Amino acid sequence: MRAAEPVLWTNPARLDVPPAALAAGSEHISLADIEAARDRFTRFAPLLAQLFPELQASGGIIESALQRAPAMQQALRLEPALGALWLKADHSLPVAGSIKARGGIHEVLEFTERLAREHGLPGAGGSDRTDGASDYLRLAGPAAREIFGRYRVAVGSTGNLGLSIGVMASALGFRAEVHMSSDAKPWKQERLRRRGVRVVEHPGDYEQAVAAGRREAAADPFAYFVDDERSLSLLLGYSAAALHLRDQLAAAGVAVDADHPLFVYLPCGVGGAPAGIAFGLRQLFGAHVHCFFAEPVRSPCFLVQMLAGEGHPSVYDYGLDNRTEADGLAVPRASQLAAQVMTPLLSGVFTVTDATLFRHLAQLDASEGLHIEPSAAAGFSGPDMLCRSAAGRAYLEHHGLAGALPRATHLAWTTGGLLVPPEEYQGFLAKAARLAAA
Ligand SMILES: *Cc1c(COP(=O)(O)O)cnc(C)c1O
Repeated sequence: MRAAEPVLWTNPARLDVPPAALAAGSEHISLADIEAARDRFTRFAPLLAQLFPELQASGGIIESALQRAPAMQQALRLEPALGALWLKADHSLPVAGSIKARGGIHEVLEFTERLAREHGLPGAGGSDRTDGASDYLRLAGPAAREIFGRYRVAVGSTGNLGLSIGVMASALGFRAEVHMSSDAKPWKQERLRRRGVRVVEHPGDYEQAVAAGRREAAADPFAYFVDDERSLSLLLGYSAAALHLRDQLAAAGVAVDADHPLFVYLPCGVGGAPAGIAFGLRQLFGAHVHCFFAEPVRSPCFLVQMLAGEGHPSVYDYGLDNRTEADGLAVPRASQLAAQVMTPLLSGVFTVTDATLFRHLAQLDASEGLHIEPSAAAGFSGPDMLCRSAAGRAYLEHHGLAGALPRATHLAWTTGGLLVPPEEYQGFLAKAARLAAA
């Protein structure tokens, strides 16, 4: 890891049967919290369909397809005897264009419900209320907007979280503010500014942008800061994806049981998104789902945190420089909340070079015609790492899974890409070609 070479680490603390409730900071979380997040999305769906034309077809539900990827499987030379490759296409999630649509939007909606309740607005939701969809539509009305306009919703981000929170917050009438690090892509900043979001640039890395945003918001009682390093609402928003995926797997006739293991490969930045999803999947599928996080070789913050076990080390402490084209994953220090939740649940973490990210990005384009951003390609090394590395074989043997591989499902979570401008995307392909020729 210190040499910035690809590695697979498997988690000795993983429990086959996860506890029903897990400690997360000062709280405990369980299946009921995952369902509550899903129900919150459902309550807001009619309002979201009204605010975002692109959500009309789905009735306001922000979800992505589950699809087989046989051509990509061939491109990766993953023979059928090792299982079948599938994708969870979050690169096409509407509104935010990335997995951040799940957690980021969930937290803005939760804050919106809380304000509505405090101000006696209609549609103040929650399990103890029976407000109908029409009440929620009134949250787009003048009375609600007048109140929301007094509040500032702020976030620190390398880009995608800012897009998700900024777009949703400003659509609901909040003043939205995104603190961005120097590695944030200019097109992400421009897109936010066009939507009326205030973009504050910070010279340092992601962590410094978050700290600056947190500090500014703390001084203002009308500011709400979405804290990517500490937020339980974000994590639970991501977790709701597991319920939807369960239905999609069932509809596709994909079994998940002792004979049909499910391996999930999740690109990891600070860890909130993959931890939320892994938490949800482990609650639903128990021992039979195996979640692996994928990180850039020079930004393996989650691996560093899991290895340390305690404290809050950064990748800089290991002589790594946190430089990667995978801007969504360019994070020097992991979320301790995510690491805490993952300790008994996670199967492992592997790392990927930028050259491999670009190769897989181009292969996915050529094989399946799908457009993703570099961060979203991190999962595609997973099947190879698991099935062919010594650490991966040892994991399979230890869990008695080697014989089940022909019936296994390998699910690569493609986490972003929809909003990448075409000229930017052509630049990715050109870079992939240059790297392949080198
Ligand atoms: C943010 C992001 C991730 C990882 O999410 P974290 O919560 O930061 O771990 C993965 N892929 C993309 C495209 C992202 O934007």
